[in-house]
Amino acid sequence: MSLTPMASSATPTPATKIVKCPTCGGPSVYAASNRFRPFCSERCRSIDLGAWASEEFRVPEDEPDPQAQTPDDQSS
Ligand SMILES: [Zn+2]
Repeated sequence: MSLTPMASSATPTPATKIVKCPTCGGPSVYAASNRFRPFCSERCRSIDLGAWASEEFRVPEDEPDPQAQTPDDQSS
């Protein structure tokens, strides 16, 4: 038996890196075990993706489109 208890159990999982979740700002495990990294969870990841999508396809509400502004202009 050549156990060396001094070397082990000193640092619990040194490979585990904790980063800040971009969505909620909470701790997120940046490791292979976390497939949603750098997000902390699937929910945060989908929220972030949704935010990007809505930002991408956002239409200015305060800016009326002249081309689609005349529904009753077709006077027959
Ligand atoms: Zn999060």
